[in-house]
Amino acid sequence: MENRKEMKTWLNNLGLNHPLVIAGPCSAETEDQVVKIAHQLKETDTSILRAGIWKPRTRPGNFEGIGAIGLKWLQRAKEETGLKIATEVANKNHVELALKADVDVLWIGARSTVSPFIVQDIADALQGTDKIVLVKNPVNPDLPLWLGAVERLHDANIKNLGVIHRGFSTYEKTKYRNNPEWQIAIDLQNEFPDLPLILDPSHIAGRRDLIFDLCQTSLDLNYNGIMVETHFDPNNAWSDAKQQITPSSLDQITVDLKIRKETT
Ligand code: PEP
Ligand code: MN
Repeated sequence: MENRKEMKTWLNNLGLNHPLVIAGPCSAETEDQVVKIAHQLKETDTSILRAGIWKPRTRPGNFEGIGAIGLKWLQRAKEETGLKIATEVANKNHVELALKADVDVLWIGARSTVSPFIVQDIADALQGTDKIVLVKNPVNPDLPLWLGAVERLHDANIKNLGVIHRGFSTYEKTKYRNNPEWQIAIDLQNEFPDLPLILDPSHIAGRRDLIFDLCQTSLDLNYNGIMVETHFDPNNAWSDAKQQITPSSLDQITVDLKIRKETT
């Protein structure tokens, strides 16, 4: 496979802060919520606003996302703040709607990366796009499955690719909701040396108090960015309430990361 080296170009071309900060709520809930959090995040190091509108819940009965109407809310947030916008896509229909709404960053979630059929459908729908496409690791610690997803997208001539480490499911009792497996992401980078690597400490931790240390570890390992679930009222978030942090906590984390960097 050729041109694996071109992959960091989008990150450089965007002229974004290092680390790249993607932040926003787990789920878009209301128009006011999306617009309000966007304005708050605009005052932090955040470059890209994330919000899930189609939510892949492991078990039914929880909030499953607001649906396509949320795209309008994200568009408004982008118009008012200039932040780029990101959402999860899990099928061809999502991709078509997101492209029509000019979403800047589309990510493939852990429950989709596990399925070569789903990934191939998304890759076909995105064929040749210049949008940024980020691939979360699959739910299970399976490097070939993660690599295979990246290869399918790369083969569909999608150049602006990146990957997100969101931890791996385990039946063991650990302090994490999803175990980080740092070596798997390093092995992935050995195959695609210039693929931007982003950490999602929120879905790894499943709780707020572990987020700073996870971010620090990722920067020590030369990750290019972080994706952090952020809500102005985390306890009342409609999904993943325990792991979301406020914009001011996010701000403090990025300041502390910088201080740590300067003093080491
Ligand atoms: C999310 O980012 O809200 C999400 C559902 O993530 P994951 O696919 O990592 O579980
Ligand atoms: Mn979430």
